[in-house]
Amino acid sequence: MTALQVAAVLRGARQDASGPEARREAELLLQAVTGMSRAGLISHGDRPLTDAEHAQFSALWQRRLQGEPIAYLLGWREFYGLRLAVSPAVLIPRPETELLVDAALSRLPDTQSLNVLDLGTGSGAIALAIAANRPEASVHAGDVSAAALDVARQNAKALGLAQVCFHLSDWFQGIEPGLRFDLILSNPPYIAEHDAHLQQGDLRFEPLQALTPGGDGLASYRHVIKAAPEWLNAGGWLLFEHGYDQADAIRALFVDAGYSDVSTLQDIEGRDRVTVGQWRI
Ligand code: GLN
Repeated sequence: MTALQVAAVLRGARQDASGPEARREAELLLQAVTGMSRAGLISHGDRPLTDAEHAQFSALWQRRLQGEPIAYLLGWREFYGLRLAVSPAVLIPRPETELLVDAALSRLPDTQSLNVLDLGTGSGAIALAIAANRPEASVHAGDVSAAALDVARQNAKALGLAQVCFHLSDWFQGIEPGLRFDLILSNPPYIAEHDAHLQQGDLRFEPLQALTPGGDGLASYRHVIKAAPEWLNAGGWLLFEHGYDQADAIRALFVDAGYSDVSTLQDIEGRDRVTVGQWRI
């Protein structure tokens, strides 16, 4: 039997799943298996695959067809210009979460050394994006999952951002009591317990603990909004990502707890996505 060539393998994959996304994903998996660049795949379509490469690609492609997220199959996802390792121990960073990073950076002058805390850091995406863009800031990040922290620490090391401090922590419980922050932010689990999305797409494969706090999905906000004043410097900011229909409830929680300058920002789809409040006392 003659070995299958790159172009034929990609043609075969295109018969299983159509659309530009499927085509791009097949290319990414083949790049991962062969170590070839995308340009290489295109210009060397006649390059034969070894049996091992072909078997490896076929196995990954079948798993993708069964719905496993491409980010887990590749083992990485790009976020805020950083290539982050991801595993099923962490939520896959989403493009809309870049808005949370933008909102934080716009409140962090790059001339000052400020203290920042990312709660529920997962892969470390938010904390590392901030550290990469504010080398002067002292960035801390917590997560309740030791497996997630392993991924976050690995990312910090690979990106040369070893200054980020990671804490095994259930919200604030594991943060050193003396620390105070100028900005605290989080993309917490916020999907309601019975939301059908949990059974759809990538979410089926992601850690449930990172997606839903149970109930109506607001428990993380109730807890952190109430607890944060003890950890915020006067004038410090608290910022959250949230679901498109949760902004009113979250603004009310901020206002009731005594924060000021409470406002909501929209993502590129025009949906309410980030709400912020300032602690003045
Ligand atoms: N934004 C994610 C989604 O809806 C949910 C992430 C989260 O709960 N923080 O897919």
